[in-house]
Amino acid sequence: MSLHEACGLFGICSTEDKIAESLHLGLFTLQHRGQEAAGFALARGGEFFLYKDLGSVEEVYRQGNVRLRRGQLGIAHTRYSTAGESAAENAQPIGLHRQGRWLALTHNGTVANAARLRRELSEQGVVFQGSSDTEILLQLYARAPEGTSPEERLARLAGQVRGAYSLLLLDGDRLIAARDPFGFRPLVIGRRGADWLIASETAALEMVGARPEREVRPGEAVIFRPGREPEARRFAPERAIRCCVFELIYFGRPDSVIFDHDVYQFRKRTGCLLARKEGSAIDLVVPVPDSGVPAALGYAQALGCPLELGLIRSHYVGRSFIEPQQASRLQVVKMKLLPLRSVLSGRRVALVDDSIVRGTTAKAVVELVREFGAAEVHLRIASPPIIAPCFFGIDMPTKAELLASGRTLAEIKEFLQADSINYLTLAELAEATGVGAGLVPALGGFCDACFSGCYPAGSLAEDDLFRGATCRTPTCKTR
Ligand code: SF4
Repeated sequence: MSLHEACGLFGICSTEDKIAESLHLGLFTLQHRGQEAAGFALARGGEFFLYKDLGSVEEVYRQGNVRLRRGQLGIAHTRYSTAGESAAENAQPIGLHRQGRWLALTHNGTVANAARLRRELSEQGVVFQGSSDTEILLQLYARAPEGTSPEERLARLAGQVRGAYSLLLLDGDRLIAARDPFGFRPLVIGRRGADWLIASETAALEMVGARPEREVRPGEAVIFRPGREPEARRFAPERAIRCCVFELIYFGRPDSVIFDHDVYQFRKRTGCLLARKEGSAIDLVVPVPDSGVPAALGYAQALGCPLELGLIRSHYVGRSFIEPQQASRLQVVKMKLLPLRSVLSGRRVALVDDSIVRGTTAKAVVELVREFGAAEVHLRIASPPIIAPCFFGIDMPTKAELLASGRTLAEIKEFLQADSINYLTLAELAEATGVGAGLVPALGGFCDACFSGCYPAGSLAEDDLFRGATCRTPTCKTR
């Protein structure tokens, strides 16, 4: 599986001014959501500090000497670029001095109509610092007349922006957490004594000793000031909620609760559902580490079949170490996942993974498992086939590059050279979420567009729909 999440957000509103270390630790827990760049912004009274750069959370925190900085309000961000290049100026938070105060913004998601909005803002005289879609959000927020409330600013922004945005904003003496009206990306509020903390995932809250309280609701802004109770204000009517189901399948940490779902238990449930329809004789269940492990556990338990770690993952292979032009695809995969001959030899293996994107890694893994002695390799995938790209904050290849787009199950099996392949259906995925079967193609409160090709109505601008992001389902309301 090789999809990339857009970003991780972490924020603190405290009565004390020593928040840097908690900000660092919280963001570090979200490092899996982006490894390209990181940044920190802190505010106390009229003081404002911002440091961001390319690099890991740890590197940027050290380089910027962030631990020495004081602030009662802080926001932090770790980035994987889905829109805009991987450059230091696109790192977040993005800051701006306007109307006598500092603004800083962090964003998880993607602005689907960024090109048009950037063009329009440029024509109005806006000079951008970088090329990211996040800066568009900051400009739209900042350009309202003086005295405009945060929720009015966000309402104006929501009227123009299509796509996904979970936001943390520093606006003078306030920290604001907001989520787009569809609620694509997660954002959760926690409490630690008199302090309020906000994060993309509950694991980050737990890491710094905060108790998760509730999610920011879609279309809601929650305003935090030190020593005061948070104020919740609605800036947009709640739409048909469309939380990203991929957060549960792959992106979220297994020790997080996302959209009120325990991620680990959800993944185990998908494995149980796969086992329910097993038709092949299996000797051994082998997870593709790390993301396939909980589903493989559920699958093995439901089947009553032993689970073994037949693939050992190396945690020390960084991107820079692997030069695709110097190594074959098989060699690259082998450096990350080395099969165990003593486990695999002569066995009929069910290889369990969370999803398949392009299929190149899955094909190499099947080949390796065979090379190391497996008698049969049966692929079991704990989500439906991915047939359409994402416009809501996940870096996905084009439709043509997706293995399952336009291919039958038999063609996919043939391409991957597996003895058999089985995916979850959309109805089974719905069952795993607890929404219940029979809601195909829409998974109730979840977005399933990359599996169904059905994009939530009103989530994309007309020009994006025209570019081919339309639903294939004749009964779908997207069209
Ligand atoms: S298209 Fe897929 S990855 Fe994107 S938000 Fe919807 S479910 Fe998530």
